Amino acid sequence: MNNSHIKKLASESGFKAAYFLPPPDYASHNDEPHIIWNAAEYPWADVTLLLIWAYSPYPPDVRIPSYYINSNASYHASVALARRLEAEGVKLLRCEVPIKQMALRYGIASPCRNSLVAVPGFGTRVVFQSMLLGGSENHSFAAESYNIEDRSENLRLSCNSCRACINACPAHAISENGLDVKKCMRFYMDGADYPDWVYDIQRTHMGCEVCQQVCPRNAGVKAVMPPEDISRAFDLETLSKGITKPARLLVGKNFTGNGKLAKEAEHFLKRDG
Ligand code: SF4
Ligand code: SF4
Repeated sequence: MNNSHIKKLASESGFKAAYFLPPPDYASHNDEPHIIWNAAEYPWADVTLLLIWAYSPYPPDVRIPSYYINSNASYHASVALARRLEAEGVKLLRCEVPIKQMALRYGIASPCRNSLVAVPGFGTRVVFQSMLLGGSENHSFAAESYNIEDRSENLRLSCNSCRACINACPAHAISENGLDVKKCMRFYMDGADYPDWVYDIQRTHMGCEVCQQVCPRNAGVKAVMPPEDISRAFDLETLSKGITKPARLLVGKNFTGNGKLAKEAEHFLKRDG
């Protein structure tokens, strides 16, 4: 097994791209211990495999979060891929790595003012999955070089004079200098509940997509209507009655505990009818 073979398997698993980067070598951050900032503890690791799951958003007036549905799908695809590789004897560890930092450093993505990163061809409409891979007698992996044109970490250069997201953000969280994280609705999505001001301006379940909807880097990524079963699962009347299981299965249960989807639906119905 080598890089090419893994890319073929990743494609068969639904990933649009697979990048082979060096293992992470950053200083650890104590506030995010679930991320492997430095692979020194895993001396067997030869490369970081960074997988890209690209997705289509839903139209702006659809409240269903395409990102979370695809994030969940990509998670299951990466688990299945890891099992397939392990069955072939590949030593690996599925784990989170400093994805944004590595994608920028190794020329896979460019930075955006809204703190996301954009991958050429897919814009910001991507989900990353990652794992460390180790070689052996039968398997050999090597880091590759990538170099997209726009890889500057300087926001002023990469977003140039565009102000679309600054003007569109309903929370006024973005400025010329980037994102004020605590003003962004996405910052509150992992918690058990949101501050009232988030419910007041939220347009999409589990977050906000406004800055991505207006971003010219996403101009080539066309929105699609959600399939019937997904629309049914996110019917507001249904969710507001507490029938959330079908929707939770689609987006994953990690972020939707404490009746969050039902509460969002109640707010949407009350505010917008
Ligand atoms: S996700 Fe929404 S709240 Fe956060 S920066 Fe983008 S537009 Fe603003
Ligand atoms: S909308 Fe414009 S300023 Fe904002 S992230 Fe996209 S390109 Fe950069």
